[in-house]
Amino acid sequence: MNKYPLLMCFLLSVVGLNCQALASTERTVEIIPFDPEEQRDDLGKLRVERNQLYVRFTGAGGVYIATKDLALLGDPYFTNSSLGTLVTLRDLRADEALLDKWLPSLDHVAGVIVGHGHYDHLADVPSVMARLPSSVKLVASKTSNHLLASAVSADRRIDANGYMASASLHGEWIALHPRIRVLPIQSEHSPHIADIVFASDVVNEDLAALPGDVADWHSGTTLSYVIDILDEDKRDVLFRIFYQSSASSFPLGVPPQWVLEDGVGIDLAVLCAANYSKVSQYPEGLLTKIKPRNVMLIHWEKFWDAYLPGRGVELPGVDLDVLGSLVMQNLPEKSSLFVPQRGASIILAK
Ligand SMILES: [Zn+2]
Repeated sequence: MNKYPLLMCFLLSVVGLNCQALASTERTVEIIPFDPEEQRDDLGKLRVERNQLYVRFTGAGGVYIATKDLALLGDPYFTNSSLGTLVTLRDLRADEALLDKWLPSLDHVAGVIVGHGHYDHLADVPSVMARLPSSVKLVASKTSNHLLASAVSADRRIDANGYMASASLHGEWIALHPRIRVLPIQSEHSPHIADIVFASDVVNEDLAALPGDVADWHSGTTLSYVIDILDEDKRDVLFRIFYQSSASSFPLGVPPQWVLEDGVGIDLAVLCAANYSKVSQYPEGLLTKIKPRNVMLIHWEKFWDAYLPGRGVELPGVDLDVLGSLVMQNLPEKSSLFVPQRGASIILAK
């Protein structure tokens, strides 16, 4: 397969020739600054109290979600391969030194979930999984499972497609821990340019080795998730989080009605900013349905710049002020919007 035509589309889109909005001169959305004191601290030192939810934006589509004694990683990615590495089709491998330095404490991590198989969501996952106890599992699409088959043992990989909710499928919770369950939802990947999604194949067989260059990390099915963290008696939901690391056209990616009607509200919606203007009714359709109490915007910064917390710069085509006001217009009264810098965090109380 000749990878270059599609690769050029991808690069044109990322370097900004496909810009749809110019950065505002006056910022109306406040970006939460990165606090260097916070990095690498364990949960105890972070002073996450009972009935509090700590969420750190780790960069690209990544989040670290934690309560006092439980944590979860979504789409962890720190390597930030450069445009030079991408365009010369070099193999993409985790930068272990960067992970050593910036990966949050793994002490309480009970699972890793991944939205799709592109390198900026999946390429660091083998290294993250290798650092976690063998009991900790990965939830990812069938394609992502096949892509990582050589690096993450089968008993640690859960095929999210088998549990996924969609227009025709009810969907089923996956228990990652007695007090953490996740529901994968069929979603969509916003196009990189025109209507093209770069590297969007579905992979149907285990790969004998990890994918190589940018074009080998195929998206497969794109998923959003509902994440429930249960309280200590394992009966009631302490926090419900909606997590979507790629923008989608409404109603793709929206939780099924049986979840929306079960009486548990959504405390936090973590939403992707990248390419938000290239899909329809995003995020207004979604927000009108899920009515979250809080929204956090992620995947808004350039993920090919050297990884450094606090130094995230808006992606070409992403205007956080425009997106922020779109979010606010479609949120229930008293709901809040948060836009953390790379590495910055929020704490919500119940
Ligand atoms: Zn992607």
